[in-house]
Amino acid sequence: MKRGTLMNQENVEVLLKNLADRNIEGYWFEDFATAKSKIMSMISIKDSVGIGNSITLKNMNLSYELSERGNLVYDKTLANNKEEVRELKRKALLTDWYVTGSNAISMDGHIVNMDHSGNRVAAMLYGPKYVIIVIGINKVIQTLDEAIYRVRNIASPKNAKRAGMNPPCVDLEKCIDCRSPERVCNNLVIIEGQYEKKRMKVFIINEKDGF
Ligand code: SF4
Repeated sequence: MKRGTLMNQENVEVLLKNLADRNIEGYWFEDFATAKSKIMSMISIKDSVGIGNSITLKNMNLSYELSERGNLVYDKTLANNKEEVRELKRKALLTDWYVTGSNAISMDGHIVNMDHSGNRVAAMLYGPKYVIIVIGINKVIQTLDEAIYRVRNIASPKNAKRAGMNPPCVDLEKCIDCRSPERVCNNLVIIEGQYEKKRMKVFIINEKDGF
């Protein structure tokens, strides 16, 4: 994970304030290790945890460490077959906590995600009692339009390739709004705010990871 250089203290405070105005708790961490310690202390051992598919979370080794200490963890990437994947996605929707990455966040606090089947964004929106969204500094984008552009043209082609899919953007390295049967972009979701106070927590990390 590379160190980030994009945000000065003033920008950090602006972003955290813009999240607070949307009823979302923002946290700033210098590195992923510190953020992980915070996650492990926030979540009780008795709590169930759903995990969104994310390179960032994989690199943090979060599922493994939560399971090892006794949490009930629903992580579809640990399934052995398609039926298990489906069940884990469904069970993750009613957990105490849902921990996930995100595709982008704008400086005014819009959280932007593109999903294939929609389970990740569904859990972010409603179901789990609490949601933690972990975002590396490379995904903090100036405006909402630029964040959507990033999600379509950078994150989605790379995620398609990572999932072993082959829509046109994998070769073109840009989105052409395809109708490919292997299209990964079925749900573009912009989180504007939260109804329940304290439910959503966004962890911004001063390191780069994921795409
Ligand atoms: S809509 Fe199609 S071309 Fe565009 S990013 Fe998604 S999968 Fe790729």
